[in-house]
Amino acid sequence: MARQEADCRALIEARGWAVGDVYRDNDTSAYSGRVRPEYERLLTDIEAGNVRAVVAWHGDRLHRSPRELERFIDLAERTGLRIETVKAGTVDLSTASGRAVARTLGAWARFESEHKSDRIRRKLAENAAAGKPHGGLRPFGWEPDKMTIRESEAAVLRESANRILAGEPIRAIIRDLNERGLFNASGTPWTHPTFRKVIINPRHAGLRFTNGQEVGPAAWPAIIEPETWRAVSRTLTNPERVTTPGRGGKLHLLSGIAFCGVCGAPLRVGHSKSTKAYRCFVKACVSRRSDYFEEYVEEIIIERLSRPDAAALLVSDDDGGERERAAQEAERVRHRLDEAALAFAGGLITARQLSTITEQLRPQLADLEAAAAPPPDRAKVLGRLIGSPDVRKAWESLNRDAQRAVVRLLLSITVNRGRRGPGWSVDGIEIEWR
Ligand SMILES: [Zn+2]
Repeated sequence: MARQEADCRALIEARGWAVGDVYRDNDTSAYSGRVRPEYERLLTDIEAGNVRAVVAWHGDRLHRSPRELERFIDLAERTGLRIETVKAGTVDLSTASGRAVARTLGAWARFESEHKSDRIRRKLAENAAAGKPHGGLRPFGWEPDKMTIRESEAAVLRESANRILAGEPIRAIIRDLNERGLFNASGTPWTHPTFRKVIINPRHAGLRFTNGQEVGPAAWPAIIEPETWRAVSRTLTNPERVTTPGRGGKLHLLSGIAFCGVCGAPLRVGHSKSTKAYRCFVKACVSRRSDYFEEYVEEIIIERLSRPDAAALLVSDDDGGERERAAQEAERVRHRLDEAALAFAGGLITARQLSTITEQLRPQLADLEAAAAPPPDRAKVLGRLIGSPDVRKAWESLNRDAQRAVVRLLLSITVNRGRRGPGWSVDGIEIEWR
């Protein structure tokens, strides 16, 4: 205790500040829930405007629970308080890391949601409202109160989501909607940017976002199931997707669809030496030449769809179990992201550590969300292939998104370590029909 105070005083001196007051609480056990009179006195003094900066030995000495930290950040935001800790550095809301703290307020809301904190809910509603596009305009799909679904437009949103997931090009969907006179909220025909903006609005999934971070369920109902919306929004925001109108996009056929049999991570295409190869995204446990691998999978699909009983593929025996597991796992990863944000806000980890954790978890989350998405209408995905006199030709005429939708729908692909040696080998490639 004395040592901690000495460290704090040294820091204050180093900053060239003067000690205004010292607040000592003897209960050091974290999360005891006991009232700390000195902590309360500190808050009162900050509130009264008598404190310009707080120096603590460590963030966890200052706030022992999310609730306390939340209250503290609130206070600091209002009073422009500067916060310094000996062990974890500056938590200053006028700095970049401090602003990140403010951004993690959303994470608190998730944490606090069980407690139904009305105050936080109001605050987040305000935040969400502040981030809404084009001022007061009614969002497409919603009545002007922004809480009531306008069914005629909601139907357009649901239909569009399904068509996007089935791999239909955005351009084609927009043309069709405009031809049917199903215009946007201002009653004018859709353009590519307005359509995209409307579709990826999380409000349709009944989700609240603050500063690009999902912060939990909204007060309004959902038009599109959250997992469906996530899949759609991921499809539209995928950086690998080339959005040039008229082109199907350049996403690789199997990336994020085939998985590593060693560690379970999705495979992505990377360059190894002179050839492009699918590789385990996390640890590079396995790899396969991309051109041969894609051809191999394409042949399997074309062969199966050319059989007389291809129509049997239209019936799914998917019981949803796998999706349910992926959804649960996705929820756990989201929780870990929140916890990391909390740890950062509490001064337990640095901004750099936070971003390392985030960079590791985000792609995992994206893949899990993809696996959790409800299956698109099988007839929509397979329609052009089944019963086609020339399945190969029909397959080749599909754009990349549509082909990916077919592979995702039909196959579960796992790549294990194969026989050692150069060249291509199907050894270790496990393909199962879904
Ligand atoms: Zn792996």
